[in-house]
Amino acid sequence: MKIINGKILSDSLNKKLSKNLFLLKKENSISPSLVVILVGNNSASSLYVRNKEKKALEVGIKSYVVRLDEKIKEEELLSVIQEYNERSDIDGILVQLPLPLHINSDKITDKINIEKDVDGFNSKNIGLLALGRPNVIPCTPLGCYFMLDHFTTLKGKNVTIIGRSNIVGKPLSYLLTNKNATVTLVHSKSLNIKKICSESDIIVAAIGKPNFIKKNWVNKNSIIIDVGINVLKEKDGTKKIVGDVDYLKVSKEVKAISPVPGGVGPMTIHCLLLNTYLLAKKRRNILH
Ligand code: NAP
Repeated sequence: MKIINGKILSDSLNKKLSKNLFLLKKENSISPSLVVILVGNNSASSLYVRNKEKKALEVGIKSYVVRLDEKIKEEELLSVIQEYNERSDIDGILVQLPLPLHINSDKITDKINIEKDVDGFNSKNIGLLALGRPNVIPCTPLGCYFMLDHFTTLKGKNVTIIGRSNIVGKPLSYLLTNKNATVTLVHSKSLNIKKICSESDIIVAAIGKPNFIKKNWVNKNSIIIDVGINVLKEKDGTKKIVGDVDYLKVSKEVKAISPVPGGVGPMTIHCLLLNTYLLAKKRRNILH
């Protein structure tokens, strides 16, 4: 069994990106900048935002975090986004999800200018991806693709994606279809998921339920990407992060598997930084 290690892969991709950012600064005097908008005090979101900020600085991307009150009105948030849409010094805008319930997330993601939409969640960017003409590819799906592409060929492979969210499952299904895989997208109303998975070459789990994928769902040639992030409380009160796959048992039965933590998470952050770099160049028509 091989471990598809997102930490090692993202470290090497971040190094390459850092070199490209250095060249962009040297040759074009451009240092891309990212603004992350965080509404409220969700502790998981704050942790993700801190990790993103740290990695951005490491590779050489300027990153600003804008912290807004949980009770902010939708209109006010829309005008904050508009301000960053208009600022010529900002290359990427990310609004950390989930947002408080009184705010319509669709309106917010659609407010971000598609030329600064580093998460790729604007409906126009999702539409372009679905049409096979991507502008920005959402970070987690792109990270999953890089992991798979590093490990195997996708052309003609049967891929089952479990979970049809707008941020992971659906965009990943478009991306892998564009890359010539044969994709089955299943969800909570699907029937026979276990059988579909056991007959697949690749399984991507994006559900949000610990130990969901069992060892009798896979075969010795299965390649598994585990997107899930679930926090479990141990008996002694400590917290443990696990994915959606029963890792200890499943990893003994398959060809390859990505761990949690150290799998899709660091790749998602790499893709956020890559998207910021690519958008900074695109906005200025720098083609190399
Ligand atoms: P989500 O919006 O809650 O979507 C979960 C999906 O799983 C839904 O499509 C749902 O089906 C499906 N599902 C739920 N129960 C199921 C069942 N019993 N059988 C089959 N499908 C079932 O979640 P998400 O935002 O996509 O995130 C999924 C997981 O990935 C979470 O653990 C999240 O924390 C993690 N995540 C990780 C990263 C990363 O960077 N590593 C990034 C994003 C998300 P329905 O549509 O029918 O309800």
